[in-house]
Amino acid sequence: MNAPVLVINCGSSSIKYALVPDTPDQPRLAGLAERLGSSDARLKGTDSQGETYTQALSGADHTAALEAILTRLEGRRPGAVGHRIVHGGERFTRAARIDDDVVAAIEATAALAPLHNPANLQGIAATRQVFAALPQVAVFDTAFHQTLPPRAYRYALPEALYRDHGIRRYGFHGTSHAYVSARADALSGLDSGGWLTAHLGNGCSTAAVWEGQSRDTSMGLTPLEGLVMGTRSGDVDPGLHAHLARQLGWSLARIDEVLNRGSGLLGLSGLTNDMRELESAAKAGHAGAELAIEVFCYRIAKSLAALSCALPRLDGIVFTGGIGENSPQVRQRVVEALPHFGCRLDAAANRSTTLGREGRIDAGGPQLWVIPTDEEGRIAAETRQLLQEGHA
Ligand code: AMP
Repeated sequence: MNAPVLVINCGSSSIKYALVPDTPDQPRLAGLAERLGSSDARLKGTDSQGETYTQALSGADHTAALEAILTRLEGRRPGAVGHRIVHGGERFTRAARIDDDVVAAIEATAALAPLHNPANLQGIAATRQVFAALPQVAVFDTAFHQTLPPRAYRYALPEALYRDHGIRRYGFHGTSHAYVSARADALSGLDSGGWLTAHLGNGCSTAAVWEGQSRDTSMGLTPLEGLVMGTRSGDVDPGLHAHLARQLGWSLARIDEVLNRGSGLLGLSGLTNDMRELESAAKAGHAGAELAIEVFCYRIAKSLAALSCALPRLDGIVFTGGIGENSPQVRQRVVEALPHFGCRLDAAANRSTTLGREGRIDAGGPQLWVIPTDEEGRIAAETRQLLQEGHA
């Protein structure tokens, strides 16, 4: 299939789109419809000349937003639609062509991702209406981690919770970990290495990838487990919930809200979840900002050290995501906390590898790479591959 793939990432009030051509020499069209369902709904994006646009879509729902997106494709006709779907449970170990059965399976998994899967389904329903003739493919955030062995995905909980309710570790950001580890294989010349990948954005996770397969990862049943994130706490004592309920009388909803939206870099610093702002505040002497960065970096290093147990051999570490791609300071602090790995940072290469640049930043020891993630590109590639294999 030579036609471009339209990649859709649908939230409850937003649709992110990218029209991904099959060759990198053609420009990508991309944009975001946001605040859907409200009077100030709008569509923002970039055209093929690199010019940005903003279009008011007052009161638009998902279907109306997709119709507006269609008019922004400059007459280029997609050959398929690839949907980012957050949770595929245990059923989906790879991308799947969307039909009624797949929609029902995504619905059945909604209990595990109540904020995301229903919104993803809204996107599928609207897209099937607006692009009725096109094949649609679901690409799951969890699928790449379905190769985890039981020792990595099982919690030490009563077996019935796993068997009857699917309580286990699933992992997320799979598309990103899959993309950057494959890219590290290609760039390093190692046919298939042992990589620790660190996706550090607003959401953060690590993964251990061996011979192209995920062997362990830091996120679990939900995307709350693991690293410190923008506003998410990551790991806390599992006794915390009961303690807050008993001592402070907090409801489950309040605890969930605080751990998901009021914690992480924001909670620690008392200032912001934005790493750029934290770095400048810390430089100006803000103690909370400094502490937030220190805890953030230490916890990444600790997670990487733990995940190294999943690899028979460590070839290198890959940094990606908004922070991983752009913050030399965070990379340096993480690497400095891993002296026992034998890591040696090339300080000049670390400083200059930012702003979407791909590059190697070590001076010996395990390889250290900065690889800008490309989740849209990977979703488009998986969509193409599935359709070419004739699973259509
Ligand atoms: P993402 O969710 O991948 O878009 O990443 C968002 C995070 O990347 C935010 O915390 C930003 O502050 C951070 N980020 C973006 N650019 C920079 C930069 N130049 N230096 C430090 N952090 C950055």
